[in-house]
Amino acid sequence: MSYNIAVDGPAGAGKSTIARAVAKKLNIIYVDTGAMYRGMGLYMLRRGIDPEDGQAVVAHCQEADITLGYENGTQVVYLNGENVNAYIRTEEVGTVTSRISVLPPVRERITALQQELAASTDCIMDGRDIGTCVLPHADVKIYLTASSAVRARRRYDELTAKGQLCDLAQIQADMEERDYRDMHREVSPLRQAQDAVLVDSSDMTPEQVIERILELCEKRD
Ligand code: C5P
Repeated sequence: MSYNIAVDGPAGAGKSTIARAVAKKLNIIYVDTGAMYRGMGLYMLRRGIDPEDGQAVVAHCQEADITLGYENGTQVVYLNGENVNAYIRTEEVGTVTSRISVLPPVRERITALQQELAASTDCIMDGRDIGTCVLPHADVKIYLTASSAVRARRRYDELTAKGQLCDLAQIQADMEERDYRDMHREVSPLRQAQDAVLVDSSDMTPEQVIERILELCEKRD
């Protein structure tokens, strides 16, 4: 049986930074499920499909083959064979993605791939529904969050460090809208699993969060 750690939480909570570091420490694979949904979101954006037109999204989602690979320990998302890592991180793709990921056929396709991967490999997987739906029997479950002001500030600092012009209030508003949609959708909404440990990173450094998660993993060994 493989060893699985599930990390869920809202946008900008630091899930990917933390999960990547924990994966390295434990020498297991990090699976960024948001990147898989983003691959599907990018496909719809490129095809000019209106993300609010559920029928069109469902009709076209079978055309998008999303697979994962690992190059030098980094996860690579392939969309119909093309490495799309460089295109999936924009706020625009994030917003389209949260609109289309409410649709059951989109989720079924991507969930099946995640479950296959977790069954065959020790991994830490982050997303919105990992502890509740994708891996309900995960060995360790974490719900990682922070206040929306802190999360928006972190995203703002990240973008400005890359030289991108952005507006802090706008980032916070977009994030809150995306969280609302992720938490209130009918299928697999974002919520803390009953047996998940809540970690609020608002006043914690990344090192403290990593330490806390490693402690939780030791306890369950
Ligand atoms: O984590 P990230 O911000 O990259 O995720 C982008 C969007 O993909 C989320 O806002 C959410 O709508 C969707 N997603 C999801 N289920 C997951 C991971 C991401 O619905 N397991």
